[in-house]
Amino acid sequence: MSKVHNFSAGPCILPQEVFKEASEAILNFNNLNLSLIEISHRSKDFVAVMEEARSLVKELLNVPDGYTVLFLQGGASLGFLMTAYNMIGDHKKSAYINTGTWSSKALKEAALVGEVDVIASSKEDGFNHIPKGYTIPTDADYLHYTTNNTIFGTQFKEIPNTSIPLVADMSSDIFSQQIDVSKFDLIYAGAQKNMGPAGTTVFIVKDEILKRNRVDIPTMLDFETHIKKDSMFNTPPVFAVYVSMLNLRWLKKNGGVEAIEKVNNEKAALLYAEIDNNPKFKGYAAVEDRSNMNATFNLTDESLKEKFESMLKEANINGLNGHRSVGGYRASMYNALPLESVQVLVDVMKAL
Ligand SMILES: *Cc1c(COP(=O)(O)O)cnc(C)c1O
Repeated sequence: MSKVHNFSAGPCILPQEVFKEASEAILNFNNLNLSLIEISHRSKDFVAVMEEARSLVKELLNVPDGYTVLFLQGGASLGFLMTAYNMIGDHKKSAYINTGTWSSKALKEAALVGEVDVIASSKEDGFNHIPKGYTIPTDADYLHYTTNNTIFGTQFKEIPNTSIPLVADMSSDIFSQQIDVSKFDLIYAGAQKNMGPAGTTVFIVKDEILKRNRVDIPTMLDFETHIKKDSMFNTPPVFAVYVSMLNLRWLKKNGGVEAIEKVNNEKAALLYAEIDNNPKFKGYAAVEDRSNMNATFNLTDESLKEKFESMLKEANINGLNGHRSVGGYRASMYNALPLESVQVLVDVMKAL
């Protein structure tokens, strides 16, 4: 079987050794002669998986004391609503930076529990850049932003400087670069972009947020429910948590976030240099806001489309189509994508 270079935006590439180990655990987990997916989630074998997954998140991201890591269901999309319920406080007002499809969806949910102040937006410009120079209101209960805009290919290069509690959707760049968790009150990320298979969402919750005057929260949406039960209030998505854990082990073994960040920088630099130097291509996002995870670009001459796409196919490059709302191309370069795959793509671009 020839090697496929998988630039898919999500669900995304994971290391081959993770797939292998995961498939073995489906047949015989921990030499129990039972499958991972047929044992009790309360068994000591699975509880150990959940504990290791949670502690690897803490270790790899240097999560300080006073935070709890949860693995829950519902995707980042349910995280939008959970954020709103758990973060709203006395002001009954939140502030959002709208940088794309996912931020737009997040602020729509926030409007269900309070007033939403959209303090900055790049919507008018097709979300091709990160807004700058906005003022953060001091009377909002929290500020929410999307660190990396998976669809448009933009990424915040700095954490917004704010005195109000800060929430980030890090679905598509968590574990790709070092972050200072202490700056955040809540971080969440759907697994299937850079951590594992679809089916679980990681939440990093500052315990202090539970002390605010809280609205009535449906049981399953309340972080307190899940914190009290160590992420095991109800049956967790055992397979997704297990594979995420394997992938985090892989990351740790390969030098952790610091080491992968260097490789991610190299991959992005290689591809963006080609986009900039090759007159047949142009980038979509503003240069200073370009994402290291998802590079969006177009052909300058649409008549080359068929030729380019057949060359991609020939080179076994998968998943390069842009999101249906943007068109063009999107190369997603998550942690498990090797530098070599980016080189193969760049070679095809050069040969066009
Ligand atoms: C994919 C994505 C989501 C939605 O994730 P689901 O787990 O499918 O709900 C939210 N935010 C960002 C930044 C994403 O890339």
